[in-house]
Amino acid sequence: KDKTLLMDEKAMGRAIRRIAHEIIERNKGLEHTVLVGIHTRGVPLAQRLSRELSCIEERSVPVYDLDVSAYRDDQKKSMINTVGSGQKRFDADGKTVVLVDDVLFTGRTVRAALNAIMELGRPRFIELAVLVDRGHRELPIRADYVGKNVPTSRREDVSVQLGEVDGLDQVILREA
Ligand code: 5GP
Ligand code: MG
Repeated sequence: KDKTLLMDEKAMGRAIRRIAHEIIERNKGLEHTVLVGIHTRGVPLAQRLSRELSCIEERSVPVYDLDVSAYRDDQKKSMINTVGSGQKRFDADGKTVVLVDDVLFTGRTVRAALNAIMELGRPRFIELAVLVDRGHRELPIRADYVGKNVPTSRREDVSVQLGEVDGLDQVILREA
């Protein structure tokens, strides 16, 4: 099997830091910003972004966890939960919600996430941040913040490994 290293720990750290700066610049601060990580690996990525954002702007940005599969199974009460300390209820009204995921592919997961968020409130903006955009969209969905654009074939798989989940930080392209 062929493997290509797409991002190492340093590249990942730089990408997340750059995206944090882009979020602040586009939204002119963080006053109304909340992050929603898409389960599984979108959540630790959202937490890393939140840490970068608070380092730059000295204000905390709440992180929520959205499990789109739970949404599909119609377990609406537990769709979006706070991550970490504090038990803030998800309140999107008037907010800029930044969705965070590891890989953007067809766009179907993001579409489901948009539904889940919009059922719970009226955000002012919803933006999308992904570590890797691998192409092959099937819906009119695009990311506002991209760590790395990776042209892939449909057979390939982008393996995203994060310290919090996998013990190390790297992104690998695997030939299927
Ligand atoms: P989509 O719904 O856009 O087709 O796929 C995106 C979702 O599936 C994301 O939550 C992502 O975690 C997962 N996914 C799709 N393709 C890949 C891939 O090549 N590698 C990884 N790590 N996740 C993928
Ligand atoms: Mg996923």
